[in-house]
Amino acid sequence: MQKLQGIAVSPGIAIGEALVMDNEGFRIPRPYVARDAVDEELDRLQNAITAGAAEISGYREVVAKELGEKYAAIFEAHLQMLQDSKLRSELEDMIRHRHYSPEYAVSRTLRRYAQVFQRLESAHLAERAADIFDIEKRLLRHLLGRRREGIAHLTSPVLVLAHNLTPSETANLDRRFVMGFVTEIGGPGSHTAIVAEALEIPAVVGTGPFLADVSGGEMVIIDGDKGLVILQPDDATLAHYRLGVEQNRSAAVRLEALRDLPAVTADGVAVNLYGNIEFPYEVEHCIDRGAAGIGLYRTEFLYLGSEGEPTEEVHYQAYSQVVEAMGGKPVTIRTFDLGADKLPHLPPPEDERNPCLGLRSIRLALRHLTMFRTQLRAVLRASVLGDLRVMFPLISTLLELRQAKMVLADVMEDLDEHGIAYNRQMPVGMMVEVPAAVVMIDRFVEEVDFLSIGTNDLIQYTLAVDRSNKDVVGLYNPADPAVLRLISMSIEAADKKPVPITMCGQMSGNPIYTMLLLGMGLRHFSISPAAVPEIKNICRSVTTAQCREVAARAMTMENARDITNYLREELKRRLPGLGGEG
Ligand code: PEP
Ligand code: MG
Repeated sequence: MQKLQGIAVSPGIAIGEALVMDNEGFRIPRPYVARDAVDEELDRLQNAITAGAAEISGYREVVAKELGEKYAAIFEAHLQMLQDSKLRSELEDMIRHRHYSPEYAVSRTLRRYAQVFQRLESAHLAERAADIFDIEKRLLRHLLGRRREGIAHLTSPVLVLAHNLTPSETANLDRRFVMGFVTEIGGPGSHTAIVAEALEIPAVVGTGPFLADVSGGEMVIIDGDKGLVILQPDDATLAHYRLGVEQNRSAAVRLEALRDLPAVTADGVAVNLYGNIEFPYEVEHCIDRGAAGIGLYRTEFLYLGSEGEPTEEVHYQAYSQVVEAMGGKPVTIRTFDLGADKLPHLPPPEDERNPCLGLRSIRLALRHLTMFRTQLRAVLRASVLGDLRVMFPLISTLLELRQAKMVLADVMEDLDEHGIAYNRQMPVGMMVEVPAAVVMIDRFVEEVDFLSIGTNDLIQYTLAVDRSNKDVVGLYNPADPAVLRLISMSIEAADKKPVPITMCGQMSGNPIYTMLLLGMGLRHFSISPAAVPEIKNICRSVTTAQCREVAARAMTMENARDITNYLREELKRRLPGLGGEG
């Protein structure tokens, strides 16, 4: 049994078989073989080694001819490793005596070899590990042949273990079979984390390196509440977690009873709980959990999940599906927030050393007007089907907001010319996620119909801390007093105008902040649909006067740790049994 501590990003417990995802998406189908199949399995190993060696010799010859013997020596070294008698006898031993499948034996052994190189404190030697992984892949390719099962073609439930998952890889996971995932890198605000919440599967990121220790096929537990990953758990641990799964199930059933009850505080103040979605199918999750609408539709996932740029029709279909399913409840479409870690189709900008500070989001939209206009046309066309709203992400300056609104007005004119119907009064809002926008918030409220605070980015830009970097996770804290002041200023300015203000960053779905945010005056929360019942439960259990007291006290404190501890204690006091993740 091996325990890894990472960052909890999507709650719940998953227990199942590991699938190690690497660039080639290999999957070890089964770790063990039947006793009477040993001879056959040894033959398979032999055939794979022979085929792998023939392949390498072929490459060796071509390279020797075209580039000379010096370059061909790379393959000579691979060949020697592959045909090494020590390696072979180790593999045979594992198959014969421990009944490992050849795939599992190859992967375990070569990963152990690679680890020796990875541990050496020389970057050059550590790179040699790549040669060993190369041999592992080659043998696996021959062993698995056509039985190879990639990540895109799963046939049974798995827990995905990966070094990193890009947002598009995460978006393309087969949600019928992926029951949870773990990545070695990544931080609390990474989009991988957000997609895990959308899929409603437990996830842990930022565990640090461990993939050399697993081959796939092993039993794994992902504890998405504590950020723990347990490889090959012992029986007692397994029993403990199986009980946890049962308890979670009963808690979910208890919360289900809240579905049709109103989200009001104990003193009768209405709170609006909307859902955040990334994919149209999540509308069902919102309806099932009794969400009052959709407060954030991250439309960039339409781009990430498709081969080319989505056409106007693809946009329109997605938006109309969502707005019609919500049956008159509000749906807020955020225009694409591409760039930084999410950049399909467009060429990567040259010399982009700080993607989070570079051409991302609304900046990218204003540079690629055709793409932006295509999306806006589809939004406007869908606006006649229900209560649709649009908002622009990452607004930093008034000029930027005005430009975006001008493009929208221009697209409206175009639709007018073609006699295409749309809602002329469609509310237009902006995200408040750059500190500059908060500093200028009294001006911004004059020019929008609503605001939405994106704490994921607001924290990142306020504290100058990369939301996806596990090494600075200690600084990435929603409870930082500087962040709280910015949130409070935004709510005050919105109330003064007045324009409605929502919070749609992860902070708003975390139970430990509910009282604080209610106390600051927030009445619109947009959260992952799975969090709706729990947040509703808190709202119904507290009064606004209690919350104001909590907020006032928290705002006097000087550091995030004290504030988090205080909020956790208050939550426990009011709702014993809830502790929340901080
Ligand atoms: C945010 O920044 O808080 C937000 C909701 O947007 P995203 O996480 O998509 O950047
Ligand atoms: Mg954001």
